[in-house]
Amino acid sequence: MEIILLKAVLCRRCGRTFYICQSCWRGQAYCCDFCRHRSQREAHRLAQQRYRRTVKGKEAHRQAERRRRMQGAEKTVDDASSTPVIVHDRLPQRHPFTVPCCHFCGRVGLVVEHFPRRGYGRRFSGANYTSF
Ligand SMILES: [Zn+2]
Ligand SMILES: [Zn+2]
Repeated sequence: MEIILLKAVLCRRCGRTFYICQSCWRGQAYCCDFCRHRSQREAHRLAQQRYRRTVKGKEAHRQAERRRRMQGAEKTVDDASSTPVIVHDRLPQRHPFTVPCCHFCGRVGLVVEHFPRRGYGRRFSGANYTSF
């Protein structure tokens, strides 16, 4: 019988600890796509804010505002409300939280500090595997 190994990972955005099994592990740094997208967006927004604080950015912003006003009632998509509320409530709930299970596939397993290398002979394929 196969023993599922789980690893505890700290989400870089929301700081939650989640477990991930060896077969789902791809070096994830976020607990879910939501956090991943979110933090990419936040990084993007921070860059924009920084830009807006510069004189040039302020000018560009003002002109954009003026243009928007001249175009009248144009529909603007609000960032926050257009974000679907997802994933955080869709965790695998089959097991109570006291039992560590994979955040992605929901399998219960044994928590280890690091995943052992996979079997000899079967080399870890993929040059894009990054170890931290
Ligand atoms: Zn998260
Ligand atoms: Zn899994």
